[in-house]
Amino acid sequence: MDFRLDGKVAVVTGASRGIGAAIARELARVGASVVVAARGQDALEEVAASLDGRGHAVPTDVSRLEDMDRLAAAAVGRFGGIDVLVNNAGMAPPAKQIYKVDADEWQQTMDVNVRAAWYLSKVCHPHLKQRGGGAVVNISSTSGLHHDIGLGVYSISKAALVMLTTVCAKEWARDKIRVNALAPGIIRTELAGPLIEYITSRDLKPNLMNVIGEPEDIARLVRFLVTDESRLITGDVIRIDAGELL
Ligand code: NDP
Repeated sequence: MDFRLDGKVAVVTGASRGIGAAIARELARVGASVVVAARGQDALEEVAASLDGRGHAVPTDVSRLEDMDRLAAAAVGRFGGIDVLVNNAGMAPPAKQIYKVDADEWQQTMDVNVRAAWYLSKVCHPHLKQRGGGAVVNISSTSGLHHDIGLGVYSISKAALVMLTTVCAKEWARDKIRVNALAPGIIRTELAGPLIEYITSRDLKPNLMNVIGEPEDIARLVRFLVTDESRLITGDVIRIDAGELL
């Protein structure tokens, strides 16, 4: 069984920093060519340049459908196809109670956290199918499995991502495309910075194991989910949260 990705092409969104950059590095480490996407071009180019000559940066705003059409076309144009898609780009709006959320905040969060994953999966699907199968990983959150006070819209968007995963896994199994989701707990990145500061300044425990995860913890699990090592796993949502939800 082949646990490497030599000759495979991966598209990773939100790859200019944090979890997405770690995923891009991990997939390249096991042989994949990796197309990295995010809005910030300089950071993106830096990540692409660190991928052993197999990185390609495509500036993309995942809230824009035409950008995602361009992203898929660029991956096929540069590397000849797509085998792996990681829908990682995400945003967390400022914490507030749900009745204080305005319609623009709702729409922006849904566009970036849900619609983008649906649309890019849809656009990439024919390419994965053409290669005889592949793997999609959606980065959800423990917030998609339970409600954190103040994170209502974020939680709703991440819960939708879990159901998107189920739907795609069921519809695409016949095409040999596996679709799974990860539900990370707290991971040390820019997005989680304010929460980490809140927890550490009050000496709170983030989870039962009292540990804050690193982006590489997520990247290794993504690698497992997109290689043949996990060939029987599809439609699953895997918590990676050091016992946060137990
Ligand atoms: P970061 O804020 O560190 O990184 C987010 C990435 O997404 C950046 O590369 C950013 O690049 C990109 N991004 C944001 N908005 C867009 C957009 N509209 N179009 C394209 N790219 C975009 O966050 P994390 O690495 O922590 O988060 C990665 C994923 O993991 C997210 O989906 C998040 O919800 C999820 N997650 C994170 C947890 C944590 O504790 N850190 C816990 C659970 C889930 P740019 O701004 O240049 O576009």
